[in-house]
Amino acid sequence: MSGKNTQVLMKQHPKGWVTEADFEIVARDIPKPGPGQVLVRNIWLSLDPYMRGRMDPVRSYAAHLKPGDMMGGGTVGTVIESNDAALPVGTYVNGMLGWQEYGVATAKELRVLDPKIAPVSTSLGVLGMPGCTAHYGLMALGQPKAGETVVVSAASGAVGSVVGQIAKIKGCRVVGIAGGQEKCDYVVNELGFDACIDYKGPDMHAAFKAATPDRVDVYFENVGGEIMEMVFGRLNGFARVSICGLIAQYNGQPFPFTGMRHVLVNRAKVQGFIISEHMEYWPGAIMEMAGWIKSGKLKYREDVADGLQNAPAAFIGLLKGKNFGKQLVRIGPDKA
Ligand code: NDP
Repeated sequence: MSGKNTQVLMKQHPKGWVTEADFEIVARDIPKPGPGQVLVRNIWLSLDPYMRGRMDPVRSYAAHLKPGDMMGGGTVGTVIESNDAALPVGTYVNGMLGWQEYGVATAKELRVLDPKIAPVSTSLGVLGMPGCTAHYGLMALGQPKAGETVVVSAASGAVGSVVGQIAKIKGCRVVGIAGGQEKCDYVVNELGFDACIDYKGPDMHAAFKAATPDRVDVYFENVGGEIMEMVFGRLNGFARVSICGLIAQYNGQPFPFTGMRHVLVNRAKVQGFIISEHMEYWPGAIMEMAGWIKSGKLKYREDVADGLQNAPAAFIGLLKGKNFGKQLVRIGPDKA
């Protein structure tokens, strides 16, 4: 296929907060699929907080970007040219094709999607990486028991919203923490959490104490900073803490953490994890969550930015809490 392929590159390493000047949009030739490869036209791009970490030239669990590299990311698209009989034209696929309109890949690098199970965009959210992150961090690490109190930060987001709903399914008391009354109302009224603390509201500490009369047995950490400090101060004996993300600190904000005393006196277990290292966990979790979506027990919300050229602004918004639900970018129309 001839024509141009719009791509978004990282132009330079951000200094502190990411700005639009850190990105560059270019038009390159559409790649040609080699033997065994397919050409995919992307429909959806997932925007995720981890992408911020990849933009810093520091040691981490994954390699960082260099100036001029294309931004990486999860995508959903359709096969439009195929050199693999197992992936005919028109097949919906999920992959890591990045911030671009077209990409080539082999079957091993793609997951075939069945649009009859759920809208294909959910493979980037509730039935994909964020959903599996929630399921694994809560169930495998947090091991909640019915009647226990589970607390989750960034509660209205892609991961947090799933954590709280699974904890409710498991019979726990669930307290969310989110930014703003609208997000808190959604978390309680739509998702069924028992309470939600607006960390931007007056006296977060008093509100959190009142909402956790039996203290905290499982804490699913998505943000870090002052919220982490507060929740560690209310841990119960033998509490479990899943360290999933520290988004409040991704743009270089320093935060002194003094909560280790609470880990010691409560004999708490604190475990960080990276979901891409637990791929064996995904199929079972996705199957279970698809069942909960079908039966109405698990709800999800998507926040869609239109057009690849708007991806940088949407990504900056995600890091500032402007998204309400799983942040996606619609790259092109949903047709083969
Ligand atoms: P979300 O959909 O939750 O979006 C990010 C949210 O973070 C924002 O909407 C905002 O919600 C909140 N936030 C941003 N800045 C702050 C701040 N300074 N203080 C408090 N809250 C803030 O994103 P995801 O669900 O995709 O990701 C949630 C977390 O999970 C991230 O930290 C991410 O890095 C981590 N993660 C980790 C994985 C792993 O393998 N360990 C895999 C996937 C995600 P609000 O408006 O409520 O503040």
